[in-house]
Amino acid sequence: MKKMITLRVDQSFLGDLKRGYPLILKDAVVNTDMLSEEGELIRLVDRANRYVATGYYGIQNKGIGWVLTTKEHEQIDDAFFKTKLKTALDHRTDFFEDSQTTAFRVFNGEGDGIGGLSIDYFNGYYMVSWYSEGMYSFKKYVYDALAELVEFKAIYEKKRFDTKGQYIEQDDFVMGEPGDFPIIVKENGMNFAVNLNDGAMTGIFLDQRDARRTIREYYSEDVNMLNTFSYTGAFSVAAALGGAKETTSVDLAKRSLAKTIEQFSVNGIDYEAQNIKVMDVFDYFKYAARHAMKFDLVVLDPPSFARSKKMTFSTAKDYPKLLMDAIAITEKNGIIVASTNNASFSMKKFKTFIDKAFKDLDTRYKIVEQSSLPKDFRTNRDFPEFNYLKVVFIKKLNK
Ligand code: SAH
Repeated sequence: MKKMITLRVDQSFLGDLKRGYPLILKDAVVNTDMLSEEGELIRLVDRANRYVATGYYGIQNKGIGWVLTTKEHEQIDDAFFKTKLKTALDHRTDFFEDSQTTAFRVFNGEGDGIGGLSIDYFNGYYMVSWYSEGMYSFKKYVYDALAELVEFKAIYEKKRFDTKGQYIEQDDFVMGEPGDFPIIVKENGMNFAVNLNDGAMTGIFLDQRDARRTIREYYSEDVNMLNTFSYTGAFSVAAALGGAKETTSVDLAKRSLAKTIEQFSVNGIDYEAQNIKVMDVFDYFKYAARHAMKFDLVVLDPPSFARSKKMTFSTAKDYPKLLMDAIAITEKNGIIVASTNNASFSMKKFKTFIDKAFKDLDTRYKIVEQSSLPKDFRTNRDFPEFNYLKVVFIKKLNK
């Protein structure tokens, strides 16, 4: 049995919590010193001791936990986890039935009713991500429910709750028959090599599925593409399959070279006909400008924060500057795909960055597409801050 701690909600946060806001912000509760161990259940009450919600204690970013239910008598037990998981699986029936896409998210944290937990499916394998020590204390419920509800080859896990939410290195195998990695998954007919037991990242970011499809179907034919912060080159693969004349993938990490070669190869693309650069994106921009190089399609998908030997980059501060670098080497009528997964600012704010960059360069532009998380990354419409992904396709026009 989990201990239940009663915490009083600060009046100014009461309205949101009652409307279903799922995160228990640090400032939203007054007597946090009552908490002792992550995983404890929290009973939120108002000033008059009236019940508001039940959650759990688990430190993650700005929050000290997540709301699990607003029904006073609902128990947080094995049946609770099983019901949430079952409902989530039912929402992904179309994905399970789609033979052309075998990698998708089956449980998306607070969007599926349990903040701090996500589960991804990779062609018969499941990967469970734990975002706090508190959530991890419920692991028996989650693994039992999963084992009961789905058939799997194996289950892997990522513990993402080291200081600052970093991945904790370990053998990530949990149960089943260990996979022979890399395995190949499909996404709208494209192939991707995936390794579920090789550190924090798997080789593919599932939340960009829609952007990869849009690039491939509408923006690749005959183009010269530059993919910055390219990681395993997934966007380059999409462009190459969509008919790009040439792709250039740029990433600082040494691992990106072998991984990009691998993703091209599993799609039958001759990687030697593509450019793969292991270097700092900002150096590449200078190099390209010096050689008067221009691209028809430029993808910008930086991490929220990046630090290299020479500089630090934060999307919240430096995105306009990044865009200016990109605009300078984009052809007239070319497309820039500007993406960010930084949850700390909204789409509206992101568009002000775009506007600033083009205005500063006296260049006109037109937004031709915009998207956020795909449908398997379920989110609550009332609280867009949890829909962290922002992808904008921008056409560069005349001066
Ligand atoms: N666009 C990728 C995901 C990017 S993840 C995809 O679709 O899969 C962010 C990547 O940025 C990491 O691979 C990291 O190595 C790289 N990176 C961070 N700082 C960089 C820099 N200054 N120059 C080039 N790459 C950088």
